Amino acid sequence: MSQDWDIKPRGKECAACHLIFADRQAYYAHLQFGKEGYERADFCEACWAQEAQAQTNYSMWKGIYRLPPIEPDRTIKRETAETLLRQLIAENNPARRQVIYILCVMLERQRLLVEREVRSEPNGERLVVYEHRKTGESFVIADPQLKLTDLDQVQQEVLALLTGAPAESSETEGQPVESAPSSALV
Ligand SMILES: [Zn+2]
Repeated sequence: MSQDWDIKPRGKECAACHLIFADRQAYYAHLQFGKEGYERADFCEACWAQEAQAQTNYSMWKGIYRLPPIEPDRTIKRETAETLLRQLIAENNPARRQVIYILCVMLERQRLLVEREVRSEPNGERLVVYEHRKTGESFVIADPQLKLTDLDQVQQEVLALLTGAPAESSETEGQPVESAPSSALV
């Protein structure tokens, strides 16, 4: 079984004709789900017309290509939730699946992510595909089917991670302990 969540970047060029996307050009993203997870490819409009005729059963959406924005450093703090989400996805810890899901819902409300696709797996699992509005990356997230009774606890966990010391667990792992204990752990 592959991991429950993943991030795929938007292509910088058409997967068929390999022309580089121009700013504000329309693109078609399609997802193919297989045993090993899912594949993403992005097409220009002309190639998509041919592609769509040749194949069926695609998950797809149409978007507008935007040149990657240059982010000034001062925006980093505002994007703490996004940074935390990327970190947790990279860590791939199943114990964090509820936190990851809540972060996505949060970022969708903040209009940073947009829901593109909901997919029900044969085993009853529900996958949600979000697209990042600025970067065009697609995030595939397993819906943990949270119960209302769990919600408060998960939200507390998210809040603790957001206000605590992010990257603490991953960045310090495997490094020798310095002479003075870190006060951030208290
Ligand atoms: Zn093309």
